[in-house]
Amino acid sequence: MTTTDGATDTDGMESLDPADWSDLRVLGHRMIDDMFDHLQTLRDGPVWQKMPDPLRQELRQALPRQPQAPEAVYETFQRLVQPYSTGNLHPRFMGWVHGGGNPIGMLAELLAGGLNANLGGRDHAPIEVERQVIAWAAEMLGFPSDSSGVLVTGTSIANLIGVLVARSAKLGPSVRSDGVDGTRLVAYTSAAAHGCMPRAMEMAGLGRDALRMIPCDAEGRMRLDLLAQHLEADRAAGAQPFLVIGTAGTVNTGAIDDLRAIAGFAARHGLWFHVDGAFGAVAALSPKLRPLLAGIEQADSVAFDFHKWAQVPYDAGCIVVRDPARQLETFGAEAAYLKREDRGLAAGGVWPCDLGPDLSRGFRALKVWMTLSVYGADRIGAIAEQTCDLAATLAARVDREPSLERLAPVALNIVCFRYIAAQGDLDRLNADITADLHESGIAAPSTTIIGGVLAIRAAIVNHRTNHTDITVMVNAVLEAGRKRGA
Ligand SMILES: *Cc1c(COP(=O)(O)O)cnc(C)c1O
Repeated sequence: MTTTDGATDTDGMESLDPADWSDLRVLGHRMIDDMFDHLQTLRDGPVWQKMPDPLRQELRQALPRQPQAPEAVYETFQRLVQPYSTGNLHPRFMGWVHGGGNPIGMLAELLAGGLNANLGGRDHAPIEVERQVIAWAAEMLGFPSDSSGVLVTGTSIANLIGVLVARSAKLGPSVRSDGVDGTRLVAYTSAAAHGCMPRAMEMAGLGRDALRMIPCDAEGRMRLDLLAQHLEADRAAGAQPFLVIGTAGTVNTGAIDDLRAIAGFAARHGLWFHVDGAFGAVAALSPKLRPLLAGIEQADSVAFDFHKWAQVPYDAGCIVVRDPARQLETFGAEAAYLKREDRGLAAGGVWPCDLGPDLSRGFRALKVWMTLSVYGADRIGAIAEQTCDLAATLAARVDREPSLERLAPVALNIVCFRYIAAQGDLDRLNADITADLHESGIAAPSTTIIGGVLAIRAAIVNHRTNHTDITVMVNAVLEAGRKRGA
């Protein structure tokens, strides 16, 4: 191809684009076909298999100075990487809280990679897509339509942003220049909160000890009477309470705090009300589950993930803040070279880099936008509901089996239970059973500690999981338990 001034495409210079695109095009089509085959046949393969040591060795190479054929590098990916991935695509992956992804989201990742847009700022359509996604998130949560927000890697960072916005709402934006020296800010959350919450307090310079972990009731919800007592004591001791964090779906058991009561408490005491809804917030898309979240619409900020229950491929976390001015004053950039113009590419008002710590950012929004557009939010809500129904089925089965014991109430999609044997160390036994399941490739629940004992924890998140998968997993636990417990 020749440009108008007569120069050829490369003009004798080096470029990474091929001179002839046809081979790469063929390879690209093959990759897509192969990945569709992989998705179509997932169920037949193991959930997970350990990467063999010789293959780990083979992957370790010095910086490749010389080019290699893309076909050869792809072959290495197929042989060394693809078979030994996390396993969360598989319908019997039930560990932690991992989303299953979806094929439209996968294709969106390809398109986003092709555009290679930088969503830090400037005036372009990809940023409009992200603004649309944030508006949808606000709508999902029942937030005002002018709420602000930004996509980030995950809820850990979204929670950190929530803490930072709450911090500057309390101390004023001057905290950005003055720091927190000498102030004694304290925050409150439940003892069942995710470990990223104390980490957010660390990173915000407030210290993890300034986060009061309030004990929970039997349902795993923060005890509001104890919350009030802690607040009184802190005030009496001269500390400055500034933030209360409710959890919508605790990571251990899926419990949902009484968000409406916490909203009232926060309003009475002048506290910022943040909700960690990492997976649970997506329950708002199901008419049946939505009432469980009542009060979330009164929060000042909500952090959640599209990459868990909303089935968007990793990574896609989200923070939404009710008052856009608060988020902007926490992060708004000053640097001269980022100066906003009123026309041209450097125009476009508030940029995503004004709303969080990242400057350069990828086009995460596209896979969220395409996933929600193609399947529809109702269908995502129906999937969430379906996983809760599967969890209820699993809980009922556990309750029927004499050698299984359920260890926590089932609020949403998580079931904690253990295998019971007449003698021996039950914690050890259940940890071994879980590892046996992983290594067999049959199923992958995880473990947690409930009330001081080790539980097998099945979080049903994946849209591909069905009743047979639940039966297969329970049967595998029983069999492993019998073998080991005998
Ligand atoms: C998963 C989870 C987090 C952390 O989210 P990431 O996306 O992994 O950073 C925080 N809180 C809860 C309740 C979670 O389930």
